[in-house]
Amino acid sequence: MRVFLCVGVLAGGLAASGEESKPFVDYSEKTRDYLKRVQQGEQRHAFKGGEDVTNWQVEARAALVRVTGLERMRRELSSFRPKVIEGQAVEIEESHYRSLCTIETEPGISIPFYLLVPRTADRNVRFPLFLCPHGHDLNGLHSYAGVYRNKAHREQILGRGGDIAEQAVRRGFVALAPATRGLADEVLVPDPKGRHGNRPCRAQFMHCLVAGRTPIAERVWDMQCLLDWVVAHPSVDKERIVMSGNSGGGVLTAYTAAIDQRIRVAIPSCSFTSMTSSEGFIFHCDCCMVPGLRNWGDWPEIGGLVAPRHLLLVHGVQDGLHRKSDVEAVAALVKKIFSATGVPDHFALRWGQGGHRFYPKLMWPFVEAGLVPR
Ligand SMILES: [Zn+2]
Repeated sequence: MRVFLCVGVLAGGLAASGEESKPFVDYSEKTRDYLKRVQQGEQRHAFKGGEDVTNWQVEARAALVRVTGLERMRRELSSFRPKVIEGQAVEIEESHYRSLCTIETEPGISIPFYLLVPRTADRNVRFPLFLCPHGHDLNGLHSYAGVYRNKAHREQILGRGGDIAEQAVRRGFVALAPATRGLADEVLVPDPKGRHGNRPCRAQFMHCLVAGRTPIAERVWDMQCLLDWVVAHPSVDKERIVMSGNSGGGVLTAYTAAIDQRIRVAIPSCSFTSMTSSEGFIFHCDCCMVPGLRNWGDWPEIGGLVAPRHLLLVHGVQDGLHRKSDVEAVAALVKKIFSATGVPDHFALRWGQGGHRFYPKLMWPFVEAGLVPR
């Protein structure tokens, strides 16, 4: 059983980052002791080192599918066939074609998504795919695709490198920018009477719990339905699939890449950290919670399921939602798993100098290296 956070790694992270050793949050000693005891969990699939990595991955991945509730969704929806309706393609600045489409991923649930395809004279060329689900942004898919509500929206998104799908298509990717369930205006569960804090994503989480599933499962399910459809698209090279999202979109990227081996390069941005800080504080939004995850393992194991494929963690040094020393500690554990698979250079952690946003300049070189022909 792994102890919460390795003290040596944590101390090393603090020294490297120059962070003060003050706690991320202040809990009383009584609360700290309680959280440490109950949050430890059984760690049934914790990576200990020395085990056969492939066998560990097969068992841990199957257990992750169960604990998220995705297995239940697969069972309940086994006879359902997702249906895509493609919208009219519009040419954008002689660069690419953009269409707003929908995919029905379970009865009555239609997820809108943008499909961006590079403009080319050669109809036989196949492009790599860039799948990018957004985080807590009601306009999320529009922001990523470069479809702005007004001038202020445009300036806000461009100012933080947030038009990631449009950047990808201009670099020669087919890009998919889907709505993330519970986070996009189009696919919210409302929170009438503010029972869940006037937070639709928390309402989604509570309603999922009633059914024995989680928002993570719903979102991964949607991504997998989209992948099933897009790998058959005539413009897509299914051997070169990249996935990235910021914040909640990064959490979804991490879970999808852990579960679905079609993702060749995964870049969770400003999102990949341990479930809790060293004091027990929960970093992520409620809608990213997987009940009982600590009985399974923790985020190092989620990262380790991506090996031997490619995983880049990107963070911002000024991102107040995360703590550098905790990110570095979790990254050191992920690195151990990649080293055990013989591909330590398929994993990296990079820091941008700003806050909670994309750092495209840190992403693209890693993407290109990960897509070099095998
Ligand atoms: Zn949320």
